[in-house]
Amino acid sequence: MKAEAETKAETKRFELTAFESTKTDFTFPGQAYKCYSSEKKDTDVCRLPFSRDWTMEDWRLPPNWKEIAIRRMGELAKKYRSFQLFLDICANCGACGDKCQYYLATLDPKNMPVKRAELLRSVYRRYYTLGGRLFGSLVGAQELTREALEEWYTYFYQCSECRRCSLFCPYGIDTAEITAMARDIMASIGVTTKYITEVQAKVHAIGNNLGVPPAAMMNSCRFAEEEIKDETGVDVKVPVNKRGAEVLFVTPSADYFGDPHWYTFIGYAKLFHHVGLDYTMSTYASEGGNFGLFLTYGEMKKTNRRIVDEARRLGVKWILGGECGHMWRVLHSFMDTMNGPMDFLEEPVSPVTGTYFKNAAGSRMVHVCEFTADLIKHGKLKLDPGKNDQFRVTMSDSCNPARAMGLIEEPRYILRRVCNKYVEMNPEFNRERTYCCGGGAGLLTDELMELRMRAGGPKAEAVRATGANFVALICAICKANYPLLMDYWGVPARIGGVHELVGNALIL
Ligand code: SF4
Ligand code: SF4
Repeated sequence: MKAEAETKAETKRFELTAFESTKTDFTFPGQAYKCYSSEKKDTDVCRLPFSRDWTMEDWRLPPNWKEIAIRRMGELAKKYRSFQLFLDICANCGACGDKCQYYLATLDPKNMPVKRAELLRSVYRRYYTLGGRLFGSLVGAQELTREALEEWYTYFYQCSECRRCSLFCPYGIDTAEITAMARDIMASIGVTTKYITEVQAKVHAIGNNLGVPPAAMMNSCRFAEEEIKDETGVDVKVPVNKRGAEVLFVTPSADYFGDPHWYTFIGYAKLFHHVGLDYTMSTYASEGGNFGLFLTYGEMKKTNRRIVDEARRLGVKWILGGECGHMWRVLHSFMDTMNGPMDFLEEPVSPVTGTYFKNAAGSRMVHVCEFTADLIKHGKLKLDPGKNDQFRVTMSDSCNPARAMGLIEEPRYILRRVCNKYVEMNPEFNRERTYCCGGGAGLLTDELMELRMRAGGPKAEAVRATGANFVALICAICKANYPLLMDYWGVPARIGGVHELVGNALIL
C-alpha cells in the first residue's frame, strides 16, 4: 500500500513538473523557465555594461567576468547593510520554504526562498567569509562558475520580489532584496533579460514603459475627455504639462494606454474634475512604474529621477500617485533617500479637505486611494453605489501596496462606499499575506506564461471562493496578468481598478 501511495505521489509530482522543453531536468523543474536574454539594441540605450547580443548557449561574457561579479557583490554588501545582514543571519529554519508561489507552482526546491537565496549566499560565503575561503564546500561555499551563473539567471528571474516569504521569516529576511542584488550583480557583467531591458530602453528613449510618445499621450488624454463627455455630457479636462498646478499626477502608462486599466484612468479624470483639483499630468514624467527596480539600483534611481525633476520643473506643491504596485515600492521605500530630499516640495495637504498627509511628509507623494478615502470621509463626493450593482466586488491586494506600504484599509473603505455588493477574500490569501499575481518584477513576459499562470493559482482560487464577478486591483501589472489568470483557471470575473468603480459611482 505504501509503495502504491508513493508511486501515486511520484506520478502526481511528474504531472506537475513535466514540461515540453527538452532541456528540462525533472529534479529541478524550475529549470524549464528561462527569460530570453537581453538584446544589444536595448542595453545600448540603457548604457548597461558589456552591452551585446548573447544567448544561454553563447554567453559572450567578458574575460574577467568572475572578478567583476565578485567585486560587485562585495561593493553591494558593503553599501547596503540589510543585504549583508540577510546574507549572514539565515538560520536555515525553513519557515519560508513553502511560502513562495513559484515554489508551489513548480515544486522545485530551488524556488524555495531559502534555497533561492542560498544560490547567492553560498558564493558570498566562498569569497567573503573566512570559513568559506578556508574550507570551501565543507561549509557550504561554492565557486562562482558558469553553472552557478546559469542557476542565478534561472531562479532569480523566477522571484517576483513579492516579499511574501519575509513575512514568515523569524528574522525578517527579505529575499526580494537578495534577488534585487543578484540581478544587479548579473547586470554588472551584462547578464540581463530581454523584457526588462526592452521596457527600460523605452523609458530612456521615449519616457514610459509602453513607449507612448508625448503626442500620443496627449491624444489619450483628449480621448478620455471625449469619452466622459459622451457618457455624462460633462466637460472634463485632463491637464498635461501645466506649470504651477498644485499637484503633479503620476500614474503607470498602462492606465492611459492599456486595457482594462483605461477605465481606472477615466475614474481618476472624473474624480479630479468633481472635486476641482488643480492638477497636471506630464509627458516627461509619463510613467509611474519603475522597471529599474527589477534591474539595478542605478536604473531605479535614474527612472525615478524623472518624476523628481518634473515636479521641480512644473513647480507643483506635491505629487499624487495612481494605482500601481512596484511604483509605490520605489516611491514609498526609496525615493526620499535615493533622489531626495524632497523638501523642495510642500508637505502634502488636501486642498479639498485640509487633511495633512503626515505619512507622506518625507516623500511628498500621496497615494490616490489615501486621497479618495479622505474625500469620502469628509463627505466631498456625491456617490451612487447602485451604479455598480451589476458587480459583486472583491479586493485582491497587490504585494507592494499591501506589504511595502501597509495600504490595506483605504481601498476597502472606498469600495464599501462605491459598491453595494462587496465581499472579502480569505485573508490567508490576501491582505499582508497576499500572493503575487505571478507576473511581478519583470516576469510578465510571454516566455514565462506557463509559470505566471501556475504561480497565480492561489489567487485565482481565492477569487473563485468569493463568488465575485469583479476583482478590484490597484497594480498595473496585476491588471495585466489577472485577465489571463482568470481565463486560465476558469474563474468568471472581470478585472478593474478601484477608481474605475469610483468613476462609475460618481454623480457628476
Ligand atoms: S520574494 Fe516572493 S517570489 Fe521571491 S522568494 Fe520570496 S515569496 Fe518567492
Ligand atoms: S525563514 Fe528566514 S531564517 Fe528561516 S530559512 Fe527562511 S530566510 Fe532563513
